[in-house]
This record gives sequence, structure tokens and C-alpha cells, in this order.
Amino acid sequence: MTEIDELLTEVATASRRYLSSLPDRAVRSELDVASVRAMIDTRLPEGGVEAAEVLRDLIELGERASVATAGPRYFGFVNGGTLPAALAAELLAVAWDQNAEMAVMSPLAAVTEEVAGRWIKDLLGLPLTASIGFVTGGQSASTTCLATARHHVLAAHGWDVDTKGLRSAPLVNCLVGADRHAAIDAAFRSIGLGLPNVIVDADEQGRMSPGSLSEALRSCEGPTILCLQAGNVVTGAFDDFEDLVRLAHDVGAWVHVDGAFGAWAASSPARRHLTAGMNRADSWAVDGHKLLNVPYDCGYAVTAYPESHLRTCSSTASYFVTGGTDQPRDGMNWVLDLSRRARGVATYAALRSLGRAGVADLVDRHCCNARRFATSVSEEPDIEVVNDVVFNQVALRFGDSDAQTSAVISAVQEDGTCWAGGASWHGRTVMRWSVANWSTTPDDIDRSARAVLEAHRAVRAQEAVAPGSL
Ligand SMILES: *Cc1c(COP(=O)(O)O)cnc(C)c1O
Repeated sequence: MTEIDELLTEVATASRRYLSSLPDRAVRSELDVASVRAMIDTRLPEGGVEAAEVLRDLIELGERASVATAGPRYFGFVNGGTLPAALAAELLAVAWDQNAEMAVMSPLAAVTEEVAGRWIKDLLGLPLTASIGFVTGGQSASTTCLATARHHVLAAHGWDVDTKGLRSAPLVNCLVGADRHAAIDAAFRSIGLGLPNVIVDADEQGRMSPGSLSEALRSCEGPTILCLQAGNVVTGAFDDFEDLVRLAHDVGAWVHVDGAFGAWAASSPARRHLTAGMNRADSWAVDGHKLLNVPYDCGYAVTAYPESHLRTCSSTASYFVTGGTDQPRDGMNWVLDLSRRARGVATYAALRSLGRAGVADLVDRHCCNARRFATSVSEEPDIEVVNDVVFNQVALRFGDSDAQTSAVISAVQEDGTCWAGGASWHGRTVMRWSVANWSTTPDDIDRSARAVLEAHRAVRAQEAVAPGSL
């Protein structure tokens, strides 16, 4: 066997072993950061080490220092798992080492993006004429979309931002909801627009208030961008797109939707109502690595204005000779990168392996499992489900104190049956629960609910023995 044969065989064996251990292994990492540093943080070796030895050590490290985010009982942040077809396709894409920059570099990369992109727009009910770029995730998707929005709204006011930049440009009003994701602020900042200048009130679930938006728009003159949200990262709530998009369009604003995970509601007949009117926005940021369960990293930047998108992203380097008009699109024209991994391959494999019905079923299972969990833990006195569980997110409060809630979160993480993190919601600490893995079964939910109840009871018992210890 050649060296690469041996390495790939080893990788396949180790990957199989890891994946089959997921249903039973502790979800938390066995090693903490300090132990990992102690194991591998050395000076750069002068001479190289045999690839087989490097790999052997990495396999041991990966098995001990990874968090089982790929497994069925990880509910932290909004981290998706990996569908078998998508995982296998991703491994192949890495072996092929294709560059998705230009069609001439890889018809494979170009056409898988073209086809998968069309399927995504179809599934999410977005205009089939929309443009799409394959990016690293939700934040980069929003950055790409908002850069396009910046170009578009400034051009409409006679300013060419692509040649003149923002020096002396008209002020761009950036409106966001009070409970937007932090990625939106980061996206605005990175395109030179600074922090959003208008924060619109949101209700107790994090939905933007139409009355407040209408009020806020009255004071906005000139180029305006509004960010809405499909899926609040704590509550899973959706903005009322019908009303909000109309109000914004009445004053000529560009509407961007952060739909990192929530946009997928549109793919399910049972949840589609949550996204009513979303398709009338002007751009959408969507993740592949969350609910769709494509491996990290993968997101999609979609805009209703291909011309503005192209003007924003396309390289001006004239030495590139690209194909004729019958050629597939060049991926680089729709993202802020040039060279890039062939992300279309895994997305194509995921969507083809699921089909339309399979995508809807995947999304519905995330949601049903979230509801099952919420129902089960809410039977316990002293546990409050803080949000309306309309999608895949559940926010829990224990004994109405930040300290008790934090103590339960730590106890759950330490126990290792499952993993959930904390978040702050309207000034209170909550345990945030996100169901986003294809392999999670109702039994996993029940086991996890039991682990949460046990942690809760242990924390309560400790508080009874030593009052004020929290
Ligand atoms: C996860 C998330 C983001 C950021 O997406 P990344 O893929 O982590 O870059 C943005 N908005 C919302 C609502 C999210 O849930």
C-alpha cells in the first residue's frame, strides 16, 4: 500500500469508530484546553514527523478533546450535525481539492453550486431569479448580503460606493431589531457602516414591533437597510415579514433577513406559515451547517438583485479570462473570496439524499423533538419554559434565579449525558436548547430531559442543605 492508501484507510477506520461511539460517549470533551495544550503545544519541529504518526496522534487527540457536537444529544448554540451523504461527499471534495473560484477551474464545483443553489431557493420559496453565493456561514452570508444592500441603496441615491467608497457618501440608515443576532452588528461594522443607528423595539419573544418600525422609518431619510430575522437564536421566534417588509418597502428600504437557521421553516409545509412574506425581502442569509446538517463550514448568501450582488463581489482583476455565456457562473463573483472550497458538493449531496420530503421531515423532526423536550421538563415545578416553542429552540429558567439556572447548566454539562449552554434573555440567564441534529431520536430527548431534571433536583437539594450557596 502507498502512504496515502494507508492514511485513508486509517481515517476511514477512525471516523467509523468515532461516529459509532456518538450515541454513547459523554457529550462534553474528556480533556480541557489546558490538557490539550500540554499534549501538543510544542515548538515547531525542525524536522518533519511521519504522516502516519501525525495522524495517529491526531486521532487520539480528536477522540479525547472533541465535543460530541456531531452526536444526537448535543443541544448547544445552534450547531447542526452532519448527514451521512453530506459527510461522505465532503470527504471526497477534500480529496478532489477543487477550487470553486472559477468554472474553468472545476466544472464539478461550479455546477454543484449552480444546482444546489437552485434547489435551496426552491425549498425556501425564494425567487428563482435570486443570486446565491456559497460562503462560510450565517455571518459571512449577512456580510455579503449587506455589502450588496449597501451598494444597492447608495446607487439608488446616486452614489457609486464601489468606486468612491464611503468617504462623503450619504448616510446609510441601518435598522435592526432589539433582539437581532450579534452577527448582524459584526456584518455592518465590517462593511464600514458601523453599529446600527436605529434599534427597533421587539416583543417578549424577540419579534420586531411593526408599530415601532413604522415610527422609526419616519425619521429615516435617504438610503436605508432593515434587518429582520427568521429564527431568534434564543426563542426561535420569527418576525412578521408580511407587515414589516411592506412598511420598509414603502419607503424604499432594502430588507435583509437573517434566516441562519429559521429560513428552513419555509421548506416544511407544517412550519411554512412562520415565514409568510419572507420571500418578498431583498436578501437572505442562510446556514447549511445548522438545520440542514451539512458539515462545517457552509452558508448561503442570497439576494434578489443579481446585478448589485455581482457589482459588489466580482473581482475587477482583468487578467482573468472566464468562459463564454454558456459557461456556468464563476463562484467568486457571488462571495467575498476568490479561492474557496467546493462547498456545493456537500450541499448537493445533502439535498439529493433527502429530497424535498426529506428536508421537510428533517426540519419537522428538529421541531417535534424540541417540543417533546419542552413539554417533558415543563411538568417539573420550578422549571419555566421561557419561550413559545414555535420552532427548534427552547429556553429554560430554573427556580427563577440566574444563579440556580447557571448551576443547572454547569451540572448538565458536567454530567455529559447531553450538552446545553446558557444565554442571556431580556436580562435573565436561561438554558438554551437547540435541536438541530438528524440523528436525535425521541429516546435521546427523553434521556436528556431526565439528565436535566436530575441536575435541577441536585442543585435544589444542595441549596436546601446549604442555603445561599448559589
Ligand atoms: C448562527 C447564527 C448566525 C451566525 O451564523 P454562523 O454560521 O455562525 O456564522 C447568525 N444569525 C443567527 C440567527 C444565527 O442563529
